Amino acid sequence: MERVHNFNAGPAVLPEEVLREAQADLVNYKGMGLSVMEMSHRSKEYEAIINEARDAAKRIYGLGDDWDVLFLHGGASLQFVMIPMNFLPEGKIANFIHTGVWSKKAMAEVKKLGKPVHIAASSEDKSFSYIPKTYQLSDNPAYLHITTNNTIYGTEWKIDPDVPKDVPLIADMSSNFMSKPIDINKYSFIYAGAQKNIGPAGCAVILVKKDFLATGATNLPSMLDYQLHSKNGSLYNTPPCFTIYMIGLVLKWIENYGGLAKIEENNKAKAKYIYDVIDASNGFYRGTVVPEDRSLMNITFRLPSEELENLFISEAKKNGMIGLKGHRDVGGCRASCYNALPLNAAYDLAEFMKNFQKQNG
Ligand SMILES: *Cc1c(COP(=O)(O)O)cnc(C)c1O
Repeated sequence: MERVHNFNAGPAVLPEEVLREAQADLVNYKGMGLSVMEMSHRSKEYEAIINEARDAAKRIYGLGDDWDVLFLHGGASLQFVMIPMNFLPEGKIANFIHTGVWSKKAMAEVKKLGKPVHIAASSEDKSFSYIPKTYQLSDNPAYLHITTNNTIYGTEWKIDPDVPKDVPLIADMSSNFMSKPIDINKYSFIYAGAQKNIGPAGCAVILVKKDFLATGATNLPSMLDYQLHSKNGSLYNTPPCFTIYMIGLVLKWIENYGGLAKIEENNKAKAKYIYDVIDASNGFYRGTVVPEDRSLMNITFRLPSEELENLFISEAKKNGMIGLKGHRDVGGCRASCYNALPLNAAYDLAEFMKNFQKQNG
């Protein structure tokens, strides 16, 4: 059985080399006679695995000793509530740029804590089809939170936004984490569910500036306390051991690939194949996003009718291309082209799209 071209939005495609390496290690990890799933998270071998994953994340983003990297349970969604618990003290206001479902969910968690939210900018007026270019902070902002890639709508920040020096920038990078170089020093806190771009589900990766971390609350329940997790090297309790091992393999793959600049080059080439077909289709395929904010990761488009969309998705599947149905909230089609999607998968989809139009346009 051949592997399919996997356009799933998440959990999503992983590098085949990584899957094969994990397979080779699965029953007997490096001659230890057991699997990573069966080993103590306190063993020196596991310590090496988690340390290597942490170091690789730091190398990939060029992080110095003033940053920490955490691997925590609960996915990106738990960070929605942990961030305000840790970093939103009495008298301060959480500021958000609202670009869709994920920022809405993040804001809802702040409100559930009974804490204040200010929407500094929003693209809700146009169904989240663009990224706001200006924003207005509240008085006493605790931080500004952005979602750098909007998985459902297909928008992506092309710049790392400027914030006043005393306002920490927090970013949900779940769906474009490690997909391109960024200006890391603009951020204080970055988080991502692993299952889009860098591993299987079960873990959130957090990059946090240590001086920002030190400003956090400390009287929190243990599992919700970032400083406690940091002090314990993400080993306060049993972490998602196997997921972290897989993340480590993917990060090594990214480094071997040539790092973020090379990864971005490849991501741009993949996206271009597909957007070029959309733009040359005389409106048969309609992109749902203003061109300047189009995501390299999640390419969203409509066909002339829902009937044709369903046919498109089912015909694509017959041709070995899966995961092209849009998110249930918005409908349409979506091709997620994360780091590990091979170039030829995007090429094949673009060719399929041209042929489909010829036959049905
Ligand atoms: C998928 C996704 C989430 C949710 O991630 P979980 O790990 O399932 O909690 C949050 N934000 C963005 C941008 C996402 O794409």
